Amino acid sequence: MDFVIGGYFLCTQTMRTRMAIIITSECISCNACEPECPNTAIYEEGAEWNFAKGTSLKEVELEDGVVINAEKLFPAISNEVFYIVPSKCTECTGFHEEPQCAAVCPVDCCVPDPDYVETKEELEAKKAWLHGE
Ligand code: SF4
Repeated sequence: MDFVIGGYFLCTQTMRTRMAIIITSECISCNACEPECPNTAIYEEGAEWNFAKGTSLKEVELEDGVVINAEKLFPAISNEVFYIVPSKCTECTGFHEEPQCAAVCPVDCCVPDPDYVETKEELEAKKAWLHGE
């Protein structure tokens, strides 16, 4: 099913890349956040990531139209600190009242990215996409 969010035409099968929570260089790699994420959007520095882990995605259409197996591994987004995969972060929408990574971080390094603000509706749509709802 296709639909329109915030003026943009999106396909429910297409990777969503916007995000609101990032991990800053203040991260001490304590690993408190990673097990708390309901979407498995958080990975340690240097670790490969994929869409399938923690979601019900089987295939994903990338922004260039290429369809990939959701098990396909991608290179780490950061080799210095833990990182959040933009396409998999929903700010915990649908699971918790607040971002759980930010709630447990001892150094408050999981913060909103002012350059990429998502609406509640966009986050709900991303959560439904990730979990096949
Ligand atoms: Fe995961 Fe929630 Fe943190 Fe996003 S805000 S990375 S969904 S724990």
